[in-house]
Amino acid sequence: MILVTNNEGTPGVGETARRLARGEPALDAIEAGIRLVESDESIRTVGRGGWANLLGEVELDAAVMDGGSLRTGAVGALKGFLHPVSVARQVLERLPHELLVGDGAARFAREIGAEQAELLVPRAAEAWRQWFEHEVSAPDRARWPDVALSDYCRHAIDPEIGRDTTVFLAIDKSGNVASSTSTSGWAWKYPGRLGDSPIIGAGSYADSRYGACACTGAGEMAIRCGTARSVVLYMKQGASVTDAVMEAVNDMRHLKSGLISRVTIHAIDTKGGHKVAAVNGDGTQHYWHWSVGFDAPVALPAQPVTAHPGYATTPGSDRYTRG
Ligand code: ASP
Repeated sequence: MILVTNNEGTPGVGETARRLARGEPALDAIEAGIRLVESDESIRTVGRGGWANLLGEVELDAAVMDGGSLRTGAVGALKGFLHPVSVARQVLERLPHELLVGDGAARFAREIGAEQAELLVPRAAEAWRQWFEHEVSAPDRARWPDVALSDYCRHAIDPEIGRDTTVFLAIDKSGNVASSTSTSGWAWKYPGRLGDSPIIGAGSYADSRYGACACTGAGEMAIRCGTARSVVLYMKQGASVTDAVMEAVNDMRHLKSGLISRVTIHAIDTKGGHKVAAVNGDGTQHYWHWSVGFDAPVALPAQPVTAHPGYATTPGSDRYTRG
């Protein structure tokens, strides 16, 4: 079985399904699928073609988790490499660590011969330039980049707030469960900002005894609630996959300050069940589902769930609020 974000998993979901159908391990199958997403420039929030940070640089985050061993590998704020998911996989395979960031992650990527690439494509460079020209004051443009960035970060608006990280969850023929994420994160983020995607337990978690979960959307909310680990833990405590996701939605309802926006929670259990809920969603969020015996993956709608009444209708409500 596979659960994948739509549309951000579209270039890779078929490849993952073919590999799983051939009996490949879940982690291999989802890494292969995500690599196709990362190199597809039309996916504007993942890999090459992803959005830049406030300084106009693309910083990528990715994670993998093997639910059999509970080993993980993740990279954060990685610059200049085409396949952060494979660098994350090699953190799992080769190091006694679980997460590398920034210069250390880039050093490791070079050491293992990971493919280097220019990640900022002309479309994304132009979008950043437009933001720079219109949002940055003339004195700051003259001194750039030696300016205080925090105010720009607080008022930054992702030009495509509805677009997402790619997340893949899978169970293979042997019953092993795996999860993976890959993203450029939010457009115009503060340099060095990590979202939930590289944080195991927030943006993803897999345990072959119970199932797996991964989130897209406002990573700050998933980090604060420890969402992915919570969903798997609720299943361990006996909740169905639907009840586990809805309990994680309740956790998010408790958030009253900070960045409040949309989070889509994707989860699978080991019995063939799954649930996808879009917290503060507007009904446009979809996902791909595939199981052995399907001719092809099918696109299904996520269930929109109101967690913060008025969120979707209040202009600017997806901005940062102090509190
Ligand atoms: N969750 C990602 C992050 O916060 C972004 C997204 O999925 O839209 O970086």
